[in-house]
Amino acid sequence: MSQFDFDLFVLGAGSGGVRAARIAATHGARVGICENSRVGGTCVIRGCIPKKLLVYAAHFAEDFEDARGFGWDVGPVRFSWPDLIRAKDLEIDRLNQVYLSLLAESGVELYPHRGRFLDPHQVQLGDETISAERILIATGGHPWVPDIPGIEHTITSDEAFFLSELPQRVAVVGGGYIACEFAGIFNGLGSEVFQLYRGEAVLRGFDHDVRGVVGVEMQKKGIQLMLETVVERIRKTEQGLELSLRDGSTLEVDQVMYATGRVPNVKGLGLQDIGIEVRPSGGVVVNEMSQSSIEHIYAVGDVTSRINLTPVAIQEGHAFADTVYGGIRRPVNHEFVPSAVFCQPPVGTVGFSEEDARIHYGAIDVYRSQFKPLKHTLSGRDEKTLMKLIVDQASQKIIGIHIVGGDAPEIVQGFAIAVRSGLTKQHFDCTIGIHPTAAEELVTMRSPIQG
Ligand code: NDP
Repeated sequence: MSQFDFDLFVLGAGSGGVRAARIAATHGARVGICENSRVGGTCVIRGCIPKKLLVYAAHFAEDFEDARGFGWDVGPVRFSWPDLIRAKDLEIDRLNQVYLSLLAESGVELYPHRGRFLDPHQVQLGDETISAERILIATGGHPWVPDIPGIEHTITSDEAFFLSELPQRVAVVGGGYIACEFAGIFNGLGSEVFQLYRGEAVLRGFDHDVRGVVGVEMQKKGIQLMLETVVERIRKTEQGLELSLRDGSTLEVDQVMYATGRVPNVKGLGLQDIGIEVRPSGGVVVNEMSQSSIEHIYAVGDVTSRINLTPVAIQEGHAFADTVYGGIRRPVNHEFVPSAVFCQPPVGTVGFSEEDARIHYGAIDVYRSQFKPLKHTLSGRDEKTLMKLIVDQASQKIIGIHIVGGDAPEIVQGFAIAVRSGLTKQHFDCTIGIHPTAAEELVTMRSPIQG
């Protein structure tokens, strides 16, 4: 009989923690998990899932308009934010239950507490202390906001999902994933949206064409994109919130949402006390097997700040459990991870941007196509789709695909397998397209724009 209460104890029941716990239990380990919020983590409770539901809701505004070009006479429409939030909350409740059942069915014991290390094998949970042979830190992250005067009047995405009413005028600060996605949500649902970003083009780190096209398309839809704009302070007024900007001007809105990045949840875990190495940014330092500086303590997901995406956390959690409890050594490969930004129109991307590809590979071929999607020939909407292929000249391997346009995330998910598998431009060329689709463009681009 083991000297420990558990073979594995997991801190945090989000995507990575739950997957690791379940798989470890399936391999025969005695597993416990703790969570002081709702089981499911950021993705399910206040991230990807509710966000995507709101994106669907926002898109209806355009769908009603576009329907006219196809002969539909759409009468007056009305949108209810409380109805949407109620429906979204019901779905999140359902998913929360699913997660609880998954844990229970796999025999994982759940503690509704925030855990704190007492020593490298013991965790305090409320008044109780448990011991475990191995411990997995999967505590995720939370929004970070800059410390400027008046920041207490603002919200983050955490609160945006639970607003009692839709703000008439909203300022979204930031130019990353969350800012672009929420600017699109608020805009589609009827708010007047100002997106304030300190840089010269949104989505830093993405391919420059993607950044340019997203900025243009967002503005066409009515988002007032204020680039190279810095907020210095925020003041509550009779009419709402007044933002003082660095150029001396002011902007008045009803709600300000900050989306200026996320940081790992490490505070209060006692990591420093037991000597776990943590980066200055807060992320737990791990090796390719997700092992921390203490051999029997592991970490997966956003708390490690590797690639902060749900499917990555799930893979890391699964690989950890297979490696340690299933006897299958599975380092996680973080190359060619596809991702999407659910702004409107959405972005789907995998692999290197043109800029990064030039640095890593030197000589590359770039194929680019921008076109009006078939649907908009009748809808009349002025929206262009961008598709871009980046090819390593020496090997002819496809090393980057970037799309801005309807269904981009769905398209890129499939093509990511080809990129991950190292397929070449010739493989793409000999694949027959599906007509008429937007995706067929990816297998019919013939001439590089520059070598
Ligand atoms: P991001 O890192 O994507 O973007 C942060 C933004 O805030 C950047 O535009 C950044 O500007 C800006 N910023 C940072 N500091 C300041 C400051 N002091 N003042 C003003 N602006 C500032 O973070 P998000 O919060 O959007 O998302 C966090 C992470 O969550 C993402 O990186 C992603 O990994 C994940 N995520 C993924 C989603 C998806 O897969 N669809 C959806 C949502 C989140 P600059 O560029 O100049 O640094």
